Order: sequence, then structure tokens, then C-alpha cells
Amino acid sequence: MLAYKDISHWRRQIFSRLLTIVVVLGTILAVPSMALSFKEGLYPLIFADFVALVWIVAIWRLQRIPYTIRVLNFLAVMYLIGIALMLSVGPVSLIFLLALPVMASVLLGTIPAVLAIALGSATILVLGVGGYAKLYVTGLPDHELVPSLMVTFNFFCVGILITIPCDALLRRLSTSIDNLHQIAASLERRTDDLQKVNAELRLHATAVARLNDMVLIAQVAAAPGAGQPIIFVNYAFVRRTGYARDEVLGHGLRVLHGRDTDPAEVARITAAIQRVEPATTEILNYTRSGEPFWAEMELVPFADEGGVHTHLVMVGRDITERKKSASAIHRLAFYDVLTGLPNRRLLMDRLEEMVAQAHAGSGFSAVMFVDLDHFKFINDARGHATGDAVLRAAAEGLEQLVREDDTIARLGGDEFVVLLASLGHDTDSAMRAALRVAEKVRNVLGHGFRVEGHTYTSSASIGVSLLLPKPGQTAQDLLREADTAMYRAKAEGRNNVVFFEARMQADVERRLTLERDLGMALANGELAMHIQVQVDIAGQRTGAEMLMRWKRADGSMVPPDVFIPVAEASGLIIPLGQWALRQACLAWMALARTGNAMPLSVNVSPSQFRQPDFVERVREVLHETGAPAAQLIFEVTEGLLIEDLDKTIARMHELAAMGIRFSIDDFGTGYSNLGYLRRMPLYELKIDQSFIRDTPADSNSAALVQSILAMAGHLGLRVVAEGVETVEQAEFLAAHGSPQMQGYLFGQPIPLPRLLEALEDCRVV
Ligand code: C2E
Ligand code: CA
Ligand code: CA
Repeated sequence: MLAYKDISHWRRQIFSRLLTIVVVLGTILAVPSMALSFKEGLYPLIFADFVALVWIVAIWRLQRIPYTIRVLNFLAVMYLIGIALMLSVGPVSLIFLLALPVMASVLLGTIPAVLAIALGSATILVLGVGGYAKLYVTGLPDHELVPSLMVTFNFFCVGILITIPCDALLRRLSTSIDNLHQIAASLERRTDDLQKVNAELRLHATAVARLNDMVLIAQVAAAPGAGQPIIFVNYAFVRRTGYARDEVLGHGLRVLHGRDTDPAEVARITAAIQRVEPATTEILNYTRSGEPFWAEMELVPFADEGGVHTHLVMVGRDITERKKSASAIHRLAFYDVLTGLPNRRLLMDRLEEMVAQAHAGSGFSAVMFVDLDHFKFINDARGHATGDAVLRAAAEGLEQLVREDDTIARLGGDEFVVLLASLGHDTDSAMRAALRVAEKVRNVLGHGFRVEGHTYTSSASIGVSLLLPKPGQTAQDLLREADTAMYRAKAEGRNNVVFFEARMQADVERRLTLERDLGMALANGELAMHIQVQVDIAGQRTGAEMLMRWKRADGSMVPPDVFIPVAEASGLIIPLGQWALRQACLAWMALARTGNAMPLSVNVSPSQFRQPDFVERVREVLHETGAPAAQLIFEVTEGLLIEDLDKTIARMHELAAMGIRFSIDDFGTGYSNLGYLRRMPLYELKIDQSFIRDTPADSNSAALVQSILAMAGHLGLRVVAEGVETVEQAEFLAAHGSPQMQGYLFGQPIPLPRLLEALEDCRVV
């Protein structure tokens, strides 16, 4: 409800007050006046007073009569009283007539006021000129017209003078009231608007507070470099960070940062804030309890209407899960699951980087290929779980000894690769540095790992390839070179370090060609079995060994020392060994047919022996050729006994049950575990030719030969001494236990037909 009404409202108010006053005053004055008039016998006056009083009271009480009519009545009363007083009292009563325009102006407006002046003037003039009222002007002759005109004129002027300001005042008042109305209306509108804005703000504040994203508002401090105190955080922020509102309000944004928060990223955001630029970031934050979490944050600088940067609004969401799965994918793609070390892919990335840096002149670096020796034994003997644990322990050990900028990766199985960066600027110091690391690697592995209460040690074969600061070497080349060198280290008896040389590459290529040619040699009829006889002390033939020969199409001979290892490495030894066994059986049959039957020794390679169907194949060959099992001696090396000992021994017994006899070839060079020897169905030992070669000149070798002979005697085993080339050697052997002998002294390995010929001729072979 408005407090300011319009002018007509005021007029009604004034009129109502005025009436009250007039009624009270009129009553107070009229009663004594009427009494006085009564006493004086002025009955018309009493009548006039009475009528006026009643009329006024009626106007006062009858409020349902329209306002204007009431006012006109009121003015009429005044007019009539004025006339009455004019007629009875004289010109003094002009005041009553003067009140008429004033009242008309106040209560009705300008036009009624002007009309009232006109009516008053006319009345005065008529009353004066007509002689009804006595109008006189001091100093003027007592005349009707002139004084009447002057009084009328004066009345008119004063009436105008009083009415006009009064009217102007009321008009101003009216305008002011209108203005006030407008101001009030606009204020009301503004209040409405403000209320709306306020409601919207409350709505937004509630939405922000309840948002699932974290919202944080910080104030931008006026002084450069000063912190940005937090002034608002929402529920999501409180929920995720564990900080109560009061704990962070007033603090800087760094309250969320911790140990692993990337300082470079923080600097980047700070710089963006200082430039009043929006920024987005993925940053590691910490909760109140110190739990790290990843947040994706959007920072928006907020400027006031004058463009002054006043606040910083940050909206963030927890992306820890997303980061985790991204890093899990990254780990799976670039890291080995078992050991957590970089895998081949990451290794190649880093290697390529290293090659590029080396070409740019960063000096020498090296690639080191590490292969655990005989790791397969642990896996076979203890199971894969233990094998895995050992690999993990080995990885840990290796990881500790390389520097931060080196890389250690696992390629798979028991193969590790170490990239050694910044090894100096000359070949010599680079090789020395690489060698030092290689020695450390061997030390770590040789020292052993505790796994499930057992200590496992391992030697390692290590190949190293130096990355020279010159163009031409690729990452692939380097890895292949290190691999080749590692194979060389293995071939040289394992447990050592070999540096790659260009020559090795040629070796690898030769070996591959050899392998390819050997694969075709059998079909091309390039292979043959030669026979070398064995004799006793009296020079009597007691048996012979079957030895494989490869004569290429061009007539050149490839020595067994060269092609047998290739056959073993490629798996070709399995068909070749099967073929050799068959040739031995056929040879025995041929010898038997000519009355020269003798036991034949056949070399059986470990991988051939381990073929699941080996026993079956042997049985087949015997059956097919008709050769008796009891006439065959399988020569196996001690290498066969390293793996799956129980299975191996069981299989040996199975073959022994068929009549096949066993011989340990190259005895004395291998693991020589006497305990194993007792458990095997052994027939003979073949003393390795390296011991015979140095006997009797070298007393150590001679002593060794003697003790082997003695031990074989205890075990009840037959002995064959291999590589007997001289009479002295034969005499020494004759003097110390008389083993069987095989060697050039008694005959070279020769083709079967030649042996048959020689036997036919009864010549000494
Ligand atoms: P191995 O089984 O120790 O064979 C004996 C080796 O000594 C043969 O070499 C033989 O020619 C050589 N030899 C014999 N007498 C003398 C001598 O008085 N002086 C010297 N310096 N050497 C003598 P070969 O024939 O070159 O065979 C080398 C190796 O190749 C064999 O050593 C054997 O391990 C393997 N090998 C040969 N044939 C076969 C085969 O058919 N199967 C398998 N698995 N391996 C075979
Ligand atoms: Ca042999
Ligand atoms: Ca041998």
C-alpha cells in the first residue's frame, strides 16, 4: 500500500479536517452569536447562523455525497455567509468572500478558484453598485460606483495574488506527489528485480554447492606474488579432499599439492593465472589424509565490471580411475607383467632414442644382452611359480645396479637387456665401463636370491654391443649384435662376457647358411656314416663307433664339430640322429652278414633322446632292420643328465630292458656326479680324448686317466679311451687297467664298404 496518495486524496483529507474544525469552531462561535443576536432581537441573523450550522454539519456528516458536491455546498455556505455579513456587517466581510477562491483552489483546483474570484468580484460589484452593501474608500466621496469598483478591483487582485501561489504550490505538490509515485513504483520494480536476482543467486549457489564437480573460488591478492586465499569450496570439494570448509578457507591453493605434484605443471598454471588466462590441467592433488588423487581442473579468471581480475574460479573432477586405467594400459603395453621392467617395445623406443643421441654426438653407449644360464633347470625342477619368483628377484637385483638413465628390460624368458648410456668418448673406456657393469650383473646373479626359503644362484652369459657415435648402426642391429655376442658367450662355456665383433656377424650368417644346407643334405645324399674301430690291449677288435660325415656336393667336407652343433641348435639332429641309428643297424647287419658282427656305438644327442617317441622309434628301427638291441651302445653325454634326471634314468632303464647298452661319452668334462652314475644302467665310460692327448706327458691328465680307470673298476664299468694316437699312450693305458682303445693309432673313421673290404682282406685296419 502506497503511503503517498495523489493530490485529490490530500484535498479530501484537508476537506475532512477543515469541516471538523469549521463544525467545532462554527458551533463554538454560532451559539454565543445566536444568544447575542437573540438578545438584540436580530432574528434573521439567528436564522442565518442556524441554517449555516445545520448545513455545515450536514456536509460534514453526509460523506456518501460526492466530494465535489460537498465542497460546492461548503463554498456556497461560505458565499452566503459572506453575502449575509456584507449586507449586515459591511466591507470587513470581504474576507469571507476572499476565503472562497482560496478554498476553491485548495479543495477543487484552478478553474473553480478563478470562477470563485469572478463570482466574488461580481457579487461585490453588484452589492456595492446596487447599494446593498456599503462600500467606501477613505478620502473618496460617498459614492456608489467608484468605491465599489476600487474595492472590487482590490478584491480581484488580492484574490488572484492569494489564489495563484496557492494554486502553483498545489500544482508543485501534485507534481512532487506524482514524482514520488513514480519513484516509489520504480523502487518497487527494482525491489522486485532484486528479489528475482536474489532468488536466482540462491538457486545458483545451491546448484554450485550441490554440484558433483569440485568448485573452488579464490580471491586474487592485490600484491603480485601473494597467495590466492580460498573463499569458497563446495560439498564435492569437501567430500573428495576430506578438508572441512574452515580448514581451507583463507588458505592458498597449494594446500592440495603434495610430494608427487608436478612442479612444472604448477608453474605453468601459476603463469597462466598471472596472465589472467584460463587454463586446464591434470594434476596430482592430495586429500587431507595424504591420499593422492588425480584431478582434471579448469581455472577461469574472473574480472569485475571494471575489468579488474578479482577472483579465480576452479572446477575440478576426480580422474584417478581414468588415470589408473590409462596407466594400466600403458603398463601392459610397455612393461613386462612379471617383473615390472620395460618390455621389448619400450626397450626398442629407448634404444632408438639412444641411437639418435649417439649419432648426435653424445658419446658411447652399449647394449648388454643378459641370459641366465640353465634357468630352465629351476623351472623344471621347482615349477614355474618358483621360476617366476626367481626371475622377479633377478630383475630386482639387476634394477638396483644400473644408473637412473640406464634402462633394464626383460625380453621374455630369462633374457634381460641393459642399455648403458654415456659411457665416455673412447672405445677403451666405454668397453671398460660396460665390462664393469657386466661383472656387477654376474655378481648380483651369482650371489643368489632367497625364494621360499631356498637360495637360487645363477650364472649369466652376457653379450655386449657398443653403440659407436657414428651413423649407420640401427637399434635393431645393436640388439642383434648383443644377442649374437651373448650366444657366443654361451657357446664358449656360459658364465662369461663377450663383446660383439663384426666377425661374429659373419659367423651367424655362416651358421644360418649351414643350417639351410644341412636341412637338404640328407635328402641330397650328402651324409654318410663312417666307422671307427675299438680294440683291446691285444689289438683285437671289440667294437666300433659310428660317426657322421657331411660331404657337400662340391666335394668339401664339413667337420662334425661344425655341423653337429648346428643340427642340435636347429632341431635337425632329430631326423639326422634317427637316420644315423638306422645306418648303424644296417651296418651291423652288413657286418654280421660277412661274419664280422661287433657291437656298434651310436652317438645320441640329448634332444634326440628326450623326444617323447624316442623309445618307440628305436624299437621300430630295430624291428625294421632286424639288428639286435644288445649289439648297440648308445653314447650319451653328461649333458643329458642335467635336465629331468628321473625321467631320463627311467627311459634309460626302458631301453636297457630292450638290451641296449649305455656309454657316457667325453667322460671327465661334464658334471660327473657319481651319485647319478650309480642310478643309471651304464655299460661303459669313454675317457675324453683331451685327457688321453696329454697322457702320459702331463702328470695331471695321467693321474685323472688313472683315477677314472680305478673308479670304473669299482663300478664294474667297461672303459674306452678315445683319441689314442701314440704307442706311448697305448702303453700307458695297458699299464694302468687296460681299457679298450679307439684312435688313429688303430684306425681312422672310414666308410662301411672300406671296413668290409679291409676285413675281407684280413688286413690290419
Ligand atoms: P665324439 O663322440 O667324441 O667322437 C669322437 C671323435 O674323436 C670323432 O670326431 C673322431 O673322429 C675323433 N677321433 C677318433 N680318434 C681320434 C684320434 O686319434 N685323434 C683325434 N684328434 N681325434 C680322434 P668327429 O668324427 O669329428 O666327431 C666329432 C663329434 O661329433 C663326436 O665326438 C660326436 O660328439 C659328434 N658326432 C659325430 N657323429 C655323430 C652322430 O652320428 N650323432 C651325434 N649325435 N653326434 C655325432
Ligand atoms: Ca662318441
Ligand atoms: Ca667322445
